[in-house]
Amino acid sequence: MNVKKSYGYSWSAGRKVSEPDGKSVRKPGIVILIAAAMVCIAVISFAAFGPLAENTPQNPQDVSANSGPAPQSPLPSAIQPVAGNPLPGVSTQAPYSKDELLGKINPKSHPAFAAIAPEYTSKTGIYLRQETYDAFINMSAAAKKDGVNLVIISAFRSFYDQKAIWEQKWNGGKTVAGKNLAKEVPDFAERAKYILLYSSMPGTSRHHWGTDIDLNSLENSYFASGNGKKIYDWLSKHAAEYGFYQPYTPKPATRTVGYEEEKWHWSYLPAAKPMMQAYLQTIAYSDIDGFLGCETAAKLQVIENYVKGINPACIP
Ligand SMILES: [Zn+2]
Repeated sequence: MNVKKSYGYSWSAGRKVSEPDGKSVRKPGIVILIAAAMVCIAVISFAAFGPLAENTPQNPQDVSANSGPAPQSPLPSAIQPVAGNPLPGVSTQAPYSKDELLGKINPKSHPAFAAIAPEYTSKTGIYLRQETYDAFINMSAAAKKDGVNLVIISAFRSFYDQKAIWEQKWNGGKTVAGKNLAKEVPDFAERAKYILLYSSMPGTSRHHWGTDIDLNSLENSYFASGNGKKIYDWLSKHAAEYGFYQPYTPKPATRTVGYEEEKWHWSYLPAAKPMMQAYLQTIAYSDIDGFLGCETAAKLQVIENYVKGINPACIP
């Protein structure tokens, strides 16, 4: 599609610049020949190098990732600007592919993702979308000045990572709330609900988007006292200044459905909101498959109850 667009633009541009001026020449035959040659050169050079600026969506919707309707870039994701993105500060442009929304990508080779440096994480080989990472670095520096050390313990997780987590619980390889679900909860929908207390179904996790992070500890109790409380208090007060919000706030005070409260999970909304909007417009229950118990997704309405069952401030 882009190729067609480029050629079309080039052709008309080439003709425009090389239009002969009949008044100023006396030998129309030669002029036509020269003009024809110039047209050829212009067309070839435009076709080869292309009008580069045309590859960058100029629609202001693409720049304001924070709110409003989903960006509607005319470009398919396969030709989105790569590393060294020509629009400063914007590396995530819609439309997002289904694979991108479902976490079926490899962040190592995806141009919008960056590896997290060891100073920010206790893990190795984990990734975030570049703009999420940049915002985290700023937030981390500010927190450090206040004596708070933010440590990323989980960031992007792929569909396949989530499938491994999900199926381990589904199979009883890991207990949930002290139960071996494979033995004690034979009803599939009930079993899925247990896992959904804290774990997303593959294909429905915000971690698939590279916009969300888990910080310091996966236990709410850690954040209730001492250093953990200091971290949580700092985040509650300052994270929003850097674009980070807690999607899984207390129930039922702030929401009635969805996962339990997660004081460790923070979402970079300038990047996450447009992805969530694209997700809600693009993904159907038929797309949520390929793992044990996936048939319960529609029955439990996981998109309505879990993907959308978040802090209202995080809903696009
Ligand atoms: Zn999380």
